[in-house]
Amino acid sequence: MPRTCIALISLTLVFLSCSALAAPAPGTLPATAMPSVLTVPPAAQASDQFDPVAATDAYLAAMPADARARSDAYFEGGYWMILWDFLYAVVVCLLLLNLRWSASMRNLAERITHFKPLQTIIYWTEYLLLTTALFFPLTVYEEFLRERKYGLATQTFGPWLGDQGKLLLVNLVLGAILSMMLFGVVRRLQRTWWIWGAIVTELFLIFAVLISPVYLQPLFNKITRLDDPKVTAPILKMARANGIPAKDVYEIDASRQTTRMSANVSGFANTMRITMNDNLLHRGSLEEIQAVIGHEMGHYVLNHVYHGMEFFFIVAVAGFAFLRGSLNWSLERWGEKWQIRGVGDTAVLPLVVLLGSMFFFALTPVMNSFIRSQEHEADMYGLNASRQPDGMAQAAIHLGEYRKMSPGPLEEWLFYDHPSGRTRIYDAMRWKSENLQFMQPGQ
Ligand SMILES: [Zn+2]
Repeated sequence: MPRTCIALISLTLVFLSCSALAAPAPGTLPATAMPSVLTVPPAAQASDQFDPVAATDAYLAAMPADARARSDAYFEGGYWMILWDFLYAVVVCLLLLNLRWSASMRNLAERITHFKPLQTIIYWTEYLLLTTALFFPLTVYEEFLRERKYGLATQTFGPWLGDQGKLLLVNLVLGAILSMMLFGVVRRLQRTWWIWGAIVTELFLIFAVLISPVYLQPLFNKITRLDDPKVTAPILKMARANGIPAKDVYEIDASRQTTRMSANVSGFANTMRITMNDNLLHRGSLEEIQAVIGHEMGHYVLNHVYHGMEFFFIVAVAGFAFLRGSLNWSLERWGEKWQIRGVGDTAVLPLVVLLGSMFFFALTPVMNSFIRSQEHEADMYGLNASRQPDGMAQAAIHLGEYRKMSPGPLEEWLFYDHPSGRTRIYDAMRWKSENLQFMQPGQ
């Protein structure tokens, strides 16, 4: 279950850092880079005849056609990656079951020790190493070659591989804890394990979200306090105006891995912090930075992390209910052939991953729509908090470096976990048209 585990970690990171935008370090702009829209196009400048549709079109027209074609290609390729990832996972799981590799790994774990929790850890280690190797070609293509091809990755192969090694260790430890707890629950509570399984998974997610900024993020990146009042003063002013008890702004060196821009507002009480990545800091205008941080403040003030966890719990209960039915059904038919003794047997893991992949594949539009609705709320909050509709439009254009700007309605519903660039610019321009009194001359 490395991909499941990676998905869990990604989910954690999504909760922690809603990555907003994409941009390369200065001086190394890739072919996909959008222009820095530092001046507001004439049709988007405040006036008595301000028209949000014309203003939106003027911003979209500022994007070079070839750069836009590349980002469309990258993003549409991502739709196919959802399908290939799913099919690849299905094939790997079926191999592990039908060749009885899963049963052999369990047998080896049982020969090493009679202590059940330790058997689970050993099985998990074997499983993780084997599936990481089997997934390696796909991982290299998807997360290294493809990202480099589109100018979104900044690492060479060596450092990238180093990060993958660290991720493997994190998965080894976190996955061992989770699988030990889940198999313990299944063996002890044979009738109600699916409810308790959902509860354990939810608690584990909360644990992962809590430890991530302190123990996981520093494994991959360096976080330092930002000391530039020109940037921090307006942000801290906005924080106070929105009841956010942050005293400092932090910077994370995301440019080590990626050209994407992002920021987040996370934690509570003493751990409360506002963090922006160095890509946003170096390439975003002050207006853009404020719009993005306003958006992140929206996530925080509107308690999106907590709502996300509530939503995840509903998904987890539904997922475990589906697992209970589908595991029994499959094991009755093929359990003997695969040499799996029952739901509490660790050798069942590839089947769990197979069924879980089907469940989440079918749920893709639902998950996307939930996150997208939160992102829209954060956009509107950010506009009100920052009063920077043009900063917001610039941000949406930078995001257009890796996200298709103008999808069809069905496409947006199925595949977008953020509103599309066109939607975000239009929302900003409509806000501007109805709040012209807040605009400075020339904006
Ligand atoms: Zn967001």
